Amino acid sequence: MREDWHERLAETPGVLKSARHQHTVVPVLDLEIGCGFVTMAGPCSVETESQLLATAEHVSRAGARILRGGAFKPRSSPYSFQGLGLEGLKMLAHARDESGLAIVTEVMSETDVPMVAEYADILQIGTRNMENYSLLEAAARSGRPVLLKRGMVATIAELLRSAEFILDHGNPNVILCERGIRTFETATRNTFDVGAIALLKQISHLPVIADPSHAAGHSNLVPALARVAVAVGADGLLVEVHPNPEKAWSDGDQSLDFAGFDEMMEDLEPWIALRELELSRRACGSCRHEAVDVRAMETVG
Ligand code: PEP
Ligand code: MN
Repeated sequence: MREDWHERLAETPGVLKSARHQHTVVPVLDLEIGCGFVTMAGPCSVETESQLLATAEHVSRAGARILRGGAFKPRSSPYSFQGLGLEGLKMLAHARDESGLAIVTEVMSETDVPMVAEYADILQIGTRNMENYSLLEAAARSGRPVLLKRGMVATIAELLRSAEFILDHGNPNVILCERGIRTFETATRNTFDVGAIALLKQISHLPVIADPSHAAGHSNLVPALARVAVAVGADGLLVEVHPNPEKAWSDGDQSLDFAGFDEMMEDLEPWIALRELELSRRACGSCRHEAVDVRAMETVG
């Protein structure tokens, strides 16, 4: 790592790598985020028991390990559906029991942190809250891993500052998430900042997850962005999937249906295998990557 990043990001020494291959592994149930590729998938909003259970079962079969779903929804309008709240959290916990998937869900208010932390395995901080420091502090203190989404108008340095703030409050388990930023381009919902993922993987030891759904805004672009995310070195994906996107209560346009998710996961397989091969070749004392069967992976390339 070149010294100038340390100078430019001197405010956030705690999130920067000090050795080339240093990386943080975030434990979530039996998973290790930051060591091997992890897919998080599920609906934008938790809507009904049957919607969530069907999605959990499907994405699990297709290879996802973590179920996403919002019970508290930040919306562009305060008059839109705001999420099911506690009822939604209970549905998520039930889906975890049924599917074995870990749960990631957004928390929007510091007063809700204890309740959300009781049900979730990972607390998601949304793009609109990346700089809500009282929320970040409460999330840090909950002891749960935190998936920190980049603010839609935040620089990489600002994202790292918020991550550092969580670390400073005693929680080392931070997962960064690139979900697209606002630019002059309006054809896509946001602009997927691939360069940010590449840079974050070079300079920070924290895991980096890509959210192609909120970046694209259109489901037919999601698989291509997901492929790019794998190739550029992301540690995983956060993808919106719905049994019937046309009927989704939020973000239907960008949600994959089950067939679309299957196709994407199949398409990603060789790309993920190549990355696993690369990881397994690294000296890595902090996770179980030594266990990867390199010979099986050699056939992929
Ligand atoms: C979401 O994940 O559904 C969400 C609202 O994400 P973001 O905060 O990135 O818009
Ligand atoms: Mn959404």
